[in-house]
Amino acid sequence: MREDKNQMIKNKDIYYFDHASTTPLRKEVIAVMHEFFNKKYANAASSHCMGQQSEKAIEKAREELALLIGANNTEEIIFTSGGTEANNLVIKGIAMAYAEQGKHIITSSIEHPAVLESCRFLEKHLSFKLSYLDVDQDGFVNPEALKSSIRDDTILISIMAANNEIGTIQAIKKLANIAAKNDIFFHTDAVQAVPQMKFDVQEIGVDALSLSAHKFNGPKGVGALYLKSGIKVIPQQSGGSQERKRRAGTVNVPGIVGMAKASELVRNELESKVEKIKDLRDYFLERVFSEINNITLNGADRKNRLANNANLSFKGLDGETILYNLSLKNIAVSTGSACASGSIGVSHVLKAISIEKETAKSAVRFTFGLENNKSQIDYLVNNLKDTVKHLRSLK
Ligand SMILES: *Cc1c(COP(=O)(O)O)cnc(C)c1O
Repeated sequence: MREDKNQMIKNKDIYYFDHASTTPLRKEVIAVMHEFFNKKYANAASSHCMGQQSEKAIEKAREELALLIGANNTEEIIFTSGGTEANNLVIKGIAMAYAEQGKHIITSSIEHPAVLESCRFLEKHLSFKLSYLDVDQDGFVNPEALKSSIRDDTILISIMAANNEIGTIQAIKKLANIAAKNDIFFHTDAVQAVPQMKFDVQEIGVDALSLSAHKFNGPKGVGALYLKSGIKVIPQQSGGSQERKRRAGTVNVPGIVGMAKASELVRNELESKVEKIKDLRDYFLERVFSEINNITLNGADRKNRLANNANLSFKGLDGETILYNLSLKNIAVSTGSACASGSIGVSHVLKAISIEKETAKSAVRFTFGLENNKSQIDYLVNNLKDTVKHLRSLK
């Protein structure tokens, strides 16, 4: 029997190692959301007593999110429907607001599709010019390459803090500093980073940052954009004047309240959480590297990668086939980002770190979480070993 002391919803029959795609809700989070579905259901924009109750809860949540990332004031937090919307709002919104100052934007080739496709939208429909920076074989953006890609008309740089597929953590302070020196807005997609490392927007010097609640045991469909005071964005949906006219639409009160609770838990438990997850990840890596031949770790070394991430290539095999075989044993893993799976071809991230196409196709991503434990890792490794052995014997 597996023991599990965490405050998680238990799904006893499933061995879940896909936490970069989403994480399970904490019970504490569900508990605080509950009354905002049942009793406190008013629209936060209504001026009656009940509306004020919702509005108060939203403002309290805003304070919690500001605290998590070290924002100066609560006005800098804009609630959205998730990381995807935060990325769309900041990239398209800043581009449209500052287009008269220039139409050049710099990003990297390993960004989440929400950033990459927002950039492509600007290229295609609004004649912006984009520079997609290459990364090295560990997934790092070269600060010198960033410097030399800056032009007179560059208005925005967007580089993710940590990658969702290979876990590489960028030297974001250094990159943000280059932007600041050149008077260019700097945005970072910190959807994966904030749940796993201390991240202070003022200390690091970023102007904008994207967050998503479901990547840190909060609900899906809610996120936030941190936008430094004084920076304008053109709203990307037309409608009401919610979120200080930057994001129209009735705010998701239960979702936001849940996100704030999840945020408080991250803030209070970050160190112990990261240590626990890192220990599990390292235990996994030690076992697989000593018990399975011909495997490689894609991305940066353990020091410069997210504590929960292990992206492995299994020589000669197909990642999708491994995923399918593990899935038959109730094990959930991924072969890339969830958004990219199902689509044909090699992950754009693995392509960007220029590993061989065959190596990329044999990649499987294992991402660990709070509710995992050592015996689950043993179950995973034992089944992985059998699967790899079996598939290789067929060759
Ligand atoms: C999950 C993810 C997103 C998208 O967030 P959603 O809330 O799922 O829309 C954006 N960027 C990164 C790095 C992610 O991992």
